Amino acid sequence: MIGKHVILCCNYFRQEIESLNISKTYSHVKVVFFPGRCGQPPIASEELSSTVLGQMEYDFIDVLSGSCCVTGLNTHAEILKPFHIHGRWQCFHMIANPDIVEHYTTKGRYVVTPGWLSHWRQLINLWGFNQETAQQYFSESSTGILLLDTGVDTNAYRNLQEFSDFIDRPHEAMLVGLGFLDLFVTNIILQRQIENRQSESHSLVEKKQKVLSHYAMALDLLRTLTQVQSESDVIQQIADIFTMLFAPQTVSFNLVQSSTSPAENHIIRLDNGFVLPISSNGKLLGMLEIDGLQFPEYMENYLNLASGMVDVCGMAINNARHYQEIKDISNTDGLTGIANRRKFDEHLNLEWKRMTREQKTLSVIMCDVDYFKGYNDTYGHITGDDCLRQVAKVLSSHCRRPGDLVARYGGEEFVLVLSDTQVDGAFFLAERIRQSIEKLCIPHADSPINPCITLSIGVSYCVPTAVLLAQTLVQYADYALYEAKSNGRNRIMVKALTGEG
Ligand code: GH3
Ligand code: MG
Ligand code: MG
Repeated sequence: MIGKHVILCCNYFRQEIESLNISKTYSHVKVVFFPGRCGQPPIASEELSSTVLGQMEYDFIDVLSGSCCVTGLNTHAEILKPFHIHGRWQCFHMIANPDIVEHYTTKGRYVVTPGWLSHWRQLINLWGFNQETAQQYFSESSTGILLLDTGVDTNAYRNLQEFSDFIDRPHEAMLVGLGFLDLFVTNIILQRQIENRQSESHSLVEKKQKVLSHYAMALDLLRTLTQVQSESDVIQQIADIFTMLFAPQTVSFNLVQSSTSPAENHIIRLDNGFVLPISSNGKLLGMLEIDGLQFPEYMENYLNLASGMVDVCGMAINNARHYQEIKDISNTDGLTGIANRRKFDEHLNLEWKRMTREQKTLSVIMCDVDYFKGYNDTYGHITGDDCLRQVAKVLSSHCRRPGDLVARYGGEEFVLVLSDTQVDGAFFLAERIRQSIEKLCIPHADSPINPCITLSIGVSYCVPTAVLLAQTLVQYADYALYEAKSNGRNRIMVKALTGEG
């Protein structure tokens, strides 16, 4: 878009300028004339702005005139900004080659234009001359009159003759036509267009650079996103990224519960924000709402950038879910569905550290199915597996506090970690477990001690300290279990781990 261009020109060149039909060729250009100033004080910026330009809208102004008109203009005047003066020392240098004109002026010719000649009587009066003083002035200052004839004023020769007679000086005319003026004005108009385009492309480059830096930043942030493993952390990080990039008042992520919701591609526009559907593998995962943009003028840029980011966001959420699934699988015992030995070790170490800090009692219950080899031999391995699943289920039902964990320790052995649990509490729970297994009444014809499946249980406990090891606590539970076995099975034995060993 080219800005509105106003050309201000001395009224004495009106006919010439109008003959050029400038606005027809350059629709963004408007020519405005101001009164000629020959022999009067030059025009001032305020006068130009208030009486000539008035309420006119413009993006830039060029003033065409001789220095006699424009020396009063203040190039720093705010009222005329941005404007540029093309004030030639002599105004007729706008219509003819200055070198040729100079040739005549050095010979003493008084150079006039058709516009000047059409006002000659007025100007002679204004300068305070009568015919006698005018003749005196011109005879002293000039050898004759030279008209630069632009060919647009049919009265020019008559005016020349009359003026020449009046001052009693010889006259001559040189046909200069409109070519020189046309070039002069066109050059100014084109120059402005180039400047305008340059500043336009400059601001375009600036805009593109801004978008580019946004993209670079987004990429950087997204790279960190792919390293985040928990889903809640991913969602938090997505919210942080969008906050950093778009400076909204609120960012919220609404998870879609149904895993069958089809993917959506439509970004929903809000008054001052937008809602982005986040999908992965053709499934809609949630809606990210970004509202209260601080710079809504960048909305289109934001939308472009955001639509390029949603796929990575979807991928990151999906990755986190897969990571969680794999983690769950690697922590779970395949037969019983409860935690496995790996998870037990991890949990025990965590709780050991926590109880060390809090100086509270940590208890471990180790359970072993009595005469299970005989059970397998009697009922077969498949029934044996089923029996282990039932035992695991009972154990799980007794393990409900947040710091507690039940795990399959191996074979037909199970282990419970009980945080912040004193020995009597641990014993009480072990007894309830023992009874619950008895009450299950899983027939065990081969057991020498009971007609149904039973458990032997070892309990150990301690207040962890820096000199003790978690593994020793497990070992103590194992010793207690061994004692329970030795003492007749289907019973509980307790062993305390103390600093004294
Ligand atoms: P005790 O009362 O002394 O514990 O005698 P036990 O027979 O239970 O002990 P032992 O260690 O001799 O035998 C354990 C048996 O547990 C041997 C094995 O066949 C069985 N077992 C271990 N893991 C599994 C399993 O995953 N499924 C089945 N069905 N049996 C298992
Ligand atoms: Mg065993
Ligand atoms: Mg056993």
